[in-house]
Amino acid sequence: MSLFPPEYVDARVRYRSFMEEHVYPNEAVFGREDAAALALVEELRRRAREAGLWAPHVPPEAGGTGLGFLYYACLNEEIGRSTYAQLVFGCQAPDAGNAEILHLFGTDDQKQRFLRPLVAGEVRSFFSMTEPEVAGSDPTLLRTRAVRDGDDWVIDGHKWFSSGADGAAFAVVFAITDPDAEPHRRGTMILVPVDAPGVEVNRPVPVMGHVGRGWSTHCEVTYSGVRVPVANTLGGEGDAFLLAQKRLGPGRIHHVMRWLGQMQRAFELMCRYANEREAFGGPLADKQTVQNWIADSAAEIQACRLLTMDAAGKIDAGSEARVEVSLLKFYAARVLCDVIDRAIQVHGARGLTDETPLAMMSMMARGARIYDGPDEVHRMVVARRILRSFRDGEGWTFS
Ligand SMILES: Cc1cc2nc3c(=O)[nH]c(=O)nc-3n(C[C@H](O)[C@H](O)[C@H](O)COP(=O)(O)OP(=O)(O)OC[C@H]3O[C@@H](n4cnc5c(N)ncnc54)[C@H](O)[C@@H]3O)c2cc1C
Repeated sequence: MSLFPPEYVDARVRYRSFMEEHVYPNEAVFGREDAAALALVEELRRRAREAGLWAPHVPPEAGGTGLGFLYYACLNEEIGRSTYAQLVFGCQAPDAGNAEILHLFGTDDQKQRFLRPLVAGEVRSFFSMTEPEVAGSDPTLLRTRAVRDGDDWVIDGHKWFSSGADGAAFAVVFAITDPDAEPHRRGTMILVPVDAPGVEVNRPVPVMGHVGRGWSTHCEVTYSGVRVPVANTLGGEGDAFLLAQKRLGPGRIHHVMRWLGQMQRAFELMCRYANEREAFGGPLADKQTVQNWIADSAAEIQACRLLTMDAAGKIDAGSEARVEVSLLKFYAARVLCDVIDRAIQVHGARGLTDETPLAMMSMMARGARIYDGPDEVHRMVVARRILRSFRDGEGWTFS
């Protein structure tokens, strides 16, 4: 019996068929990231819209086809199997997280100007928080400043790892607006059109040898005297930490949902190859080390699925699920890297070539242990909250 309601599973089958027909056969083309690849992505986005598979991360009132977190988790096990599929179905990071906070906190005018074209796939966006000069793990250290001048904000700062900034239409910028407030009330989120004078997308920062193009870049961006109306404030002044939590909580689960697809795909490749490849008198599948990798991977993947469903269900029920999300984030990032690495090892040298998707998956996976909070910070969040509950006399139990 499936872990998900039957209607979710039916929807998932439709995504699987689309992936089999249009996505997997074209992975090599997507990977080239040239003009032909971009044109193909556009064509497949049109088909996904026609097939009613567009933007499953947000509900119809925000322009999507979503039915909540659990529904999206179910679909993402399929979508996440191939890196570019999130772009094809219009639910790519970081736009998906930006769409969610715009949907939750945007004014009517912001929804019209920024959310509508974003969800429609007419434009892309980026989330501009991390700075090279200070530790991104501790956003109280951020330096980018926004100062009020009449009805405008004037923004000065230096960011990097602004994913997808190349070719994007607007940024959600985390800027310090009141340096004298208590640390978690100092920042404000501001919507900044990229064509505002003073915004410079300097360069895509190469990551593990990959420069990327458009959506797949991680850019260095400077803001020099950038002037935007105060009406571009997302949420209230001083709410940046609050919004970052609202954005990153669901965003982290979105990532893990996709990683489940990646883990499962690597696992299937590992099992198939272990059965086929022979050495020392029999298939690799007969070697106990390989069997241990397969058994450990199976247990860990299923643990990640159950943790994901637990966190997604709690978020659908209105909880922030801070411990559940952090626990899932650091655990699943590790499992993702381990399962892909075991699959590569079973494939020997072939695992490092582009004859399987494993090398690309491995390159993309490593950042998982760092972006949206390094493993160590999520462990800290989990441990602190659990320890505090014991100090308060309640103790910690998972509901
Ligand atoms: C592929 C990728 C995409 C990204 N996309 C975006 C994006 O779109 N927008 C954006 O704003 N940012 C983005 N980031 C940046 C990411 O969010 C930051 O890298 C992350 O928050 C960590 O910040 P840092 O790199 O400055 O590391 P630092 O904060 O300097 O931390 C360095 C290391 O110190 C250790 N450490 C930190 N705190 C603790 C602690 N409390 N206990 C123990 N050890 C600790 C950890 O091992 C950590 O890896 C992206 C990063 C990557 C890799």
